[in-house]
Order: sequence, then C-alpha cells, then structure tokens
Amino acid sequence: MNCDETLNLLDPFVDGELPEQERGTVQQHLDGCPSCQHELRQINELRETLARTPRYVAPDSLESDVHEMLAMAADQPATRPSWGRWMKPMTTHAAAAMLGALFFYGALQPSSAPTMPMREIVAAHVRSLMDDRLTQVRSNDTHNVGPWFAGKIDFAPAVYDLNAKGFPLLGGRVDYLHDKKVAALVYLRRKHRINVFISPETGTQTKKWLQTSHNGYNIVGWHDRGFQYWAISDLNPKELTEFSKLAVAQ
Ligand SMILES: [Zn+2]
Repeated sequence: MNCDETLNLLDPFVDGELPEQERGTVQQHLDGCPSCQHELRQINELRETLARTPRYVAPDSLESDVHEMLAMAADQPATRPSWGRWMKPMTTHAAAAMLGALFFYGALQPSSAPTMPMREIVAAHVRSLMDDRLTQVRSNDTHNVGPWFAGKIDFAPAVYDLNAKGFPLLGGRVDYLHDKKVAALVYLRRKHRINVFISPETGTQTKKWLQTSHNGYNIVGWHDRGFQYWAISDLNPKELTEFSKLAVAQ
C-alpha cells in the first residue's frame, strides 16, 4: 500500500470503519511512514479541536458558505459524509459550524488529493476561525503587531501595512504548520478574514508563486525576501492575489 492509498483510507481508519484486514494494511504502512503518520496526527488534532468546540455561534457568512458548499456537494460525487454522527447532539448553529468545518475538511480527503501543505493550511485556517482565537495580539497598527512576535518565534516577520489599500490588519498570533511555529497575520477585506502564514524559507520550494483553491478557500503562496507566505481566505482569488502582490510590493 502506498501513501496515496493510505491517505485515502485515513478517515475511515480513524473512524474505525475499515475491515480488519485493510486496517492492518494501513497500520503497517503507517508504522513505516512518518509522512502518513504526520497526516494522521493532523486528522486527530483537527478532530480534537472540533470535539473541544461544543457550542459555537456560527456567523451568518459561515452558514451561507455551508449551504453553498452543500449545494456544490450535491452536484459532485465528492466525498464520504462521515460527519453525520457528529451532528446529533448539537444546536443548529453549532451543527452548521461543525458541518462547515467537517465538510471543508472531508472534501479535502480522497478525490482532490491536495498536497499536504494545502491541507494543513486549510486546517489551520478553519481551526483559527472555530476556536475564536484568530488573534493573540489585536491591533491594526503594524508597529504593535510586529514587535509582539519577538521572543515568541525565532524570526521577525514583516508586517505589511495595507490599511490604506483596503486590507486592514486585524492582528496576529503564533500558529503551527508542519509542527513548526509560524507567524500568522490576520487581515480583513470587507467581511472576509485573511490568514497569512509566514515562515522562513527552507530552500526546498521551487515555485515562486502559487494560486490554488480547495473547496471554498482560496490560497495564494509566494516567496519574498527569504520568507514563505501562505494567504488563505474565502475571499475571491482575484482580490487575494491582489493582496499578495500589494504585500510583495511593499
Ligand atoms: Zn506514507
């Protein structure tokens, strides 16, 4: 069993839905594959996060996003709806929120086969919105947000001032991607929140610019002055790309 096959089966594996023999085969691959183990940890972490969020009042935008997603899902033979049993004990709002997160997450599983960074980026974005801990430092002043990171991470992220360009800064926080601390900056465009994850470049990337989307979230990745940036939002790709170009131009 290779990594792709294993990743496709991780969801039912976690849910205990696999027949014993298949389960054994997945376990055997996991035992020898750090990369798939990492994926498994991501899934478990996201589920724990969701499990710790029993009551959550979904913003209107999330509810409408969910309805849109569901409409799309009806058109596509997309994914395995294993979220049903999560829903029962919850209020409508919580259910909508959970459904949204699980759908976004579930939709990333088998058919779209995204690369690992995309999945992590989406998971981190969803986590930040659901846990209501989008910002640890809340300020639209770059001179407050930049210095806040000192001593919390081992690099100094550039905090772009795009207030005048229609992308006000909300604040920042420390987050995790690939088990490493990254700086997360939060910007706003109308009602759309934009998470920007920043980490020092590792030198393994080849592509200078990348624009992609996964089930409702748009992602733009770029390198600039020794750093890797990932911006993610439900904002449309055109404006998100505009945001990244404005950032680079600073
Ligand atoms: Zn593997």
